[in-house]
Amino acid sequence: MDSQIPLSIPEIAGNEWHYVKECLDSGWISSVGAYVERFERSVAQITKRKYAVATVNGTAALHTSLIVAGVKPGEEVLTTSLTFIAPANAIRYCGAFPIFVDCTSTAQMDFELLRTFLREHCQRTPDGVTNRDTKRRIAAILPVNVVGAVGDIQVAESLAHEFELPLIVDATESLGSTHAGRPASSYGRMAALSFNGNKILSTGGGGMIVTDDAHLAERAKHLTTQAKDDAFEYIHHQIGYNYRLPNVLAAIGCAQLEKLEEYVLKKKKIALLYREALSDLRGVEMLSEEPKTESNCWLNVLRLKDPIESLSRPWMVELHRQKIESRPFWQPMHLSPAHRNSSYFGQAPSQAQMLYESCLCLPSSVGLTRMDQDRVIRAILVLHQDTLESRRRTV
Ligand SMILES: *Cc1c(COP(=O)(O)O)cnc(C)c1O
Repeated sequence: MDSQIPLSIPEIAGNEWHYVKECLDSGWISSVGAYVERFERSVAQITKRKYAVATVNGTAALHTSLIVAGVKPGEEVLTTSLTFIAPANAIRYCGAFPIFVDCTSTAQMDFELLRTFLREHCQRTPDGVTNRDTKRRIAAILPVNVVGAVGDIQVAESLAHEFELPLIVDATESLGSTHAGRPASSYGRMAALSFNGNKILSTGGGGMIVTDDAHLAERAKHLTTQAKDDAFEYIHHQIGYNYRLPNVLAAIGCAQLEKLEEYVLKKKKIALLYREALSDLRGVEMLSEEPKTESNCWLNVLRLKDPIESLSRPWMVELHRQKIESRPFWQPMHLSPAHRNSSYFGQAPSQAQMLYESCLCLPSSVGLTRMDQDRVIRAILVLHQDTLESRRRTV
């Protein structure tokens, strides 16, 4: 019997046991301990940032980043429609409203649309930039590095500069990626990372805010640790959050981080093999790479095109039957019932919806063996051949 091939699972192959044992032996397993600081320092170093603040998960990192960037209830944040729901939810946690901008054909936030929106649908007001339609203040720009790639983030940077808006990058999927020679998470006033189980590195659950701004880092640390103002007494001047990362998870993070380079290389090898095996098939392509980006190849995405673009669901069902996990892209946020009252900016039907309907994410774990990857590729080649043959018969 063939075994299950998962989409993206953690790889535990380094000093995890060793560091966790140290934690357990010392009793420092919880919210205080040396590993949290060490993990923060190492992440700051790897992302070429001055500061890093650990959080309990990536969603908390996003929420905190938005608060310290000054996002207030009733304001608006520009983000992408094709994303995992976390950044959209984080915007709502602030009482703010997302504006979902459509994506490019490579699944990244469309910064040309962002430019059009800011230039043609907003106006300068004494307190910043206001959406002409809703009269709400625009408070931040929040792009997402989808599946490890990075769009033309320098365009977003220059727009953020032009309109004096904070740029917060959801870099949760792009740890280890670079753009124009710089780490993906070195862009933006702040960037959020995640160490959830499906990411390139995992602490079971965890997140991080990285920034070069000492004041923002300090505010983030304060807010994520219940905003306690006195070292001894329990005095608080504002509502904080318990968003701390436990020391025992930071210990796992330190071990994982030592493996980042090796894991990125493995992921790149996996991506290359998929590309070589599947890119030349008629009606099929691997989602293309972004110029200027060296992706960590976190997740490989197969796109079905004319004449078979509508078959991604039946293909997933068949792969599932063969114990190969594949998943669609996220439902675009502007179509999500959870965010039905939000605005959308782009064409209809959106690029996001077309990708949602035509793409399959393929098994991409660091530990994916050559044999298992060959099984995935063979299954797709057979599906492809059967599909085209049955098409020919019906024509
Ligand atoms: C994983 C992920 C997050 C954050 O996830 P957590 O599970 O909260 O760590 C945020 N945005 C995107 C795009 C993600 O893929």
